Amino acid sequence: MKVETVTGPISVELLGKTLIHEHFIFGYPGYQGDVTLGPFKEDEALEAAIDVAQKMMSYGVRTVVDPTPNECGRDPIFLKKISEATGLQIICATGYYYEGEGASPYFKLRQAHRTADEDIYEMFKTEITEGIAGTGIKPGVIKLASGKGKISEYEKAFFRAAARIHKETGIVILTHTQKGTMGPEQAKMLIEQGVDPNKIIIGHMCGNTDPAYHKEVMDQGVRIGFDRFGVQVVAGTPSDQERITTLLALLDEGYEDQILLAHDTVNIWLGRPVIMKEEIAKKLENWHPAHIFDNILPALKEYGITEKQIDKMLGVNAEALFAGAPAKVV
Ligand SMILES: [Zn+2]
Repeated sequence: MKVETVTGPISVELLGKTLIHEHFIFGYPGYQGDVTLGPFKEDEALEAAIDVAQKMMSYGVRTVVDPTPNECGRDPIFLKKISEATGLQIICATGYYYEGEGASPYFKLRQAHRTADEDIYEMFKTEITEGIAGTGIKPGVIKLASGKGKISEYEKAFFRAAARIHKETGIVILTHTQKGTMGPEQAKMLIEQGVDPNKIIIGHMCGNTDPAYHKEVMDQGVRIGFDRFGVQVVAGTPSDQERITTLLALLDEGYEDQILLAHDTVNIWLGRPVIMKEEIAKKLENWHPAHIFDNILPALKEYGITEKQIDKMLGVNAEALFAGAPAKVV
């Protein structure tokens, strides 16, 4: 069983310790228009990204999934340079961001002309089977996303195309949920269209603090991401303490095989640097890729969570996801 990384396919069992959702570079669509004041300085960015990769590796991380959407600055060649410089295995994505914060006008025009489903499918197919924009680098996951409280008609077109190409290729599907909503609906929609639940991870589920909601998703046989540790209180996100409380409740009920941990860090912003207000910067001071290792794991251990459970949530479950091994064991 193989998975595509930015330096080529590797055996799934070589993934090792894995962060399932981190961005080396990311830009909200629109950054491309601010190049005069916010140009991409590749040498500086690469140096910073290599530092981040080496920091991750100092905690034993061997693989990072970087699910940056196509229109948010996805740059497979840049990721390949990080990987070649450090030995960190990086898996990139194909897919578009949710309607509210993505670059929706492009495929909305195609939707108006009724070719969007076919156009998105062809994009996925070409990138997955031939590579991204002539680089030969293939995505290891499809990134899907929906907004708060509903999956829009625009977003549904990507879900349909993803299900279609998944059935032909078996590629893993990783999602973005917004503010802890639509997790159950995302899983249901994909499974109804024939996607293997063992190859699905519903992301950002830790935006919701109700264990029953998480179970509603995992009981469909998919995995979930507690993948925003360090993103606290801003934009309606819960605190890390609330995340831990929710996670402990789920682990107590035996869901350790279906949960994966990460931070959803953005390590380099495309466009001009974001200057945050002091109070917000303070709340986000732990939003960096060492936070889980430095702060969250010690806290979990104090609550009695074992090394074995931690290994599952930081690697074993990722290998099982990419192998398509049964997710649900509870
Ligand atoms: Zn993300």
